[in-house]
Amino acid sequence: MPTPIISKRAPIYADVPDEKWNDWRWQLSHRLNTAEDIEKVLKLTESERKALQKQDLFRVDVTPYYISLINPEDADDPVRKQIIPVSEEMDAFTSMMEDSLAEDRHSPVPGLVHRYPDRVLMLVTTQCASYCRYCTRSRIVGDPGQTFNRQDFEMQIEYLKRTPQVRDVLLSGGDPLVLAPKILEELLTRLREIPHIEIVRIGSRVPVFMPMRITQELCDMLAKFHPLWLNIHVNHPNEISTELAEACDRMSRAGIPLGNQSVLLAGVNDCVHLQRELVQKLTRIRVRPYYLYQCDLVEGAGHFRTPVAKGIEIIEGLRGHTSGYAVPQFIVDAPGGGGKIPVMPNYMMSMSDHKIIVRNYEGYVTTYEEPAEYKSHDPKTCKFCQNKRSEPGQTGLTGLLDGEQMFIKPQGFDELHNRDGIQHRLKDENKWKPLGIGSGETD
Ligand SMILES: *Cc1c(COP(=O)(O)O)cnc(C)c1O
Repeated sequence: MPTPIISKRAPIYADVPDEKWNDWRWQLSHRLNTAEDIEKVLKLTESERKALQKQDLFRVDVTPYYISLINPEDADDPVRKQIIPVSEEMDAFTSMMEDSLAEDRHSPVPGLVHRYPDRVLMLVTTQCASYCRYCTRSRIVGDPGQTFNRQDFEMQIEYLKRTPQVRDVLLSGGDPLVLAPKILEELLTRLREIPHIEIVRIGSRVPVFMPMRITQELCDMLAKFHPLWLNIHVNHPNEISTELAEACDRMSRAGIPLGNQSVLLAGVNDCVHLQRELVQKLTRIRVRPYYLYQCDLVEGAGHFRTPVAKGIEIIEGLRGHTSGYAVPQFIVDAPGGGGKIPVMPNYMMSMSDHKIIVRNYEGYVTTYEEPAEYKSHDPKTCKFCQNKRSEPGQTGLTGLLDGEQMFIKPQGFDELHNRDGIQHRLKDENKWKPLGIGSGETD
């Protein structure tokens, strides 16, 4: 016998029959999106009311389930701040961008972002169950007129078929789990027909906004497409309800490994003690904290931004202090398309040719004696070294360490340094050339 769901409901939903409340289609079709609707649940602040009256506001929609998690007495409620717009959303800030991660520039076909060597981000819809105010993709998300069509989808599949280095496809959007079940199943079927795609991942906030969508039927369907991984998006312990716990349990039982990606948000979760409780609660429902993101430089998110140091302070307070499984990687997604960059406290304090000095989470400082003699494995006979596959230009520092390249030059480096005659003189003396194997373009 499944335990009955003890649901927290805002008073206006007290009389909604359970079959309706627990039906995700009912939740979707009863979302709140106007000041008038929302006022039935919460007393709006001036700032919220002003924002909700704006014409060009990024889309607002909140499921009855999610709005019920808000304490209506608290204007600073952490769930409320994620979902109800405030007038600060309209404020511009230095370095603000529409597409801060330059995703559009990395899209060989619409909706497919191929940024990394072996994996792609596939945007399958622009629709979500509710809309996070700090959305990194607010430039496209929420707008039903911008959603991807059949032709885009066919082009995405074609690109994947002819790009064998892609072994990992990350479905996102929008939220893939708001797609009609048949469409989602077709999409997964088509991806699974491509032999080089080894794993499929879904990034979804549906379990948080609308846990009733995670039915046994959906889990059975997803389980046909293993290996399939899923990341949810929880930012605050108040979002971990009985319903979310049960939804996660159903997915875990269907063999789907669960992770969590959260965003560091001022006034929502910028507290090391809160974060410790969050990550510990997540591991209790078998969700492994994966990434904690620094807030992107995206329009509308200015008032949510914290200094990067806040993230470092949080990791300082987690690593060593709690289970390693509970510690996410703190990530700055580099503006301009630089991609995800991990940032963390320093544990390495100094080093010499035979010793390193490191410190632990308690401030205990110790040494690690390096081996006096180290015989490295032989890359010439190592079958993994022989089989390595990499796209030229994407090996990064690994390529430097491997000896494939000797340097990486910033754009314009040669032009700048090719001042009158220098290049010539060096070439004549033949002193410069033999040094560099180089990146191969100019010398
Ligand atoms: C985040 C992201 C991925 C996945 O990155 P992982 O670090 O492997 O989780 C892939 N492509 C794009 C464009 C991304 O933004």
